[in-house]
Amino acid sequence: MTFVFDPAPTVSVPVVGSPLRFPVHRIYCVARNYVDHAIEMGQIGREAPFFFMKPADALVVVNAGDTADLPYPSLTHNLHHEIELVVAIGKGGKNIKAVDAHQHIFGYAVGLDMTRRDLQNEMKKQGRPWCIAKGFDHSAPIGPITLVADAGDITQAEIALQVNGVERQRSQIAKLIWNIAETIEHLSAAWALQPGDLIYTGTPAGVGAVVPGDLLTGSITALGDLTLTVQAA
Ligand code: MN
Repeated sequence: MTFVFDPAPTVSVPVVGSPLRFPVHRIYCVARNYVDHAIEMGQIGREAPFFFMKPADALVVVNAGDTADLPYPSLTHNLHHEIELVVAIGKGGKNIKAVDAHQHIFGYAVGLDMTRRDLQNEMKKQGRPWCIAKGFDHSAPIGPITLVADAGDITQAEIALQVNGVERQRSQIAKLIWNIAETIEHLSAAWALQPGDLIYTGTPAGVGAVVPGDLLTGSITALGDLTLTVQAA
């Protein structure tokens, strides 16, 4: 087959302990999935999970031990960090029941759902889509994927983010409002999941702004750190 121009390269993420890479299909994100963050965003009570997406090429793939550059995006004066557990789907499916969800998980990674919070607030106010606030270039930093078998009991993991060595966010995966299995059940009722899909599962409280020069260090128990420096536009 001959294309009118070279197709974009396949976005992929390294796999811990393997020479093989995980080719990315789609990036789904869960909104407001920790009670303390839902409250800080003005929501009270359990509501059905809702989702948004980022383009696969919004990933900033950070190798183990590296400190990557994170370009400060255009059009915002309030770039927020959201530390999140990322679930990597290895086997697709539709209408997956929570009890079967574990069969579809390839592994886990540390991710950041970077957000143009000023634009998101404006879009919310106007009832408009969040794309410009969530799906911009470089909006989805991610570290290497750890295989399920090497990740231990992820439900017992701690999740945390430091900015310049000062802790901004800390919680436990156990505090997810919709746990990983329930999230896969809801998501796969709306879309046919495919191998290569990534799910950003939501962030705990403590989201806040970063500026050029800031060093972000995200961590989840057994998954290793995700480290980036915010670069001036
Ligand atoms: Mn988020």
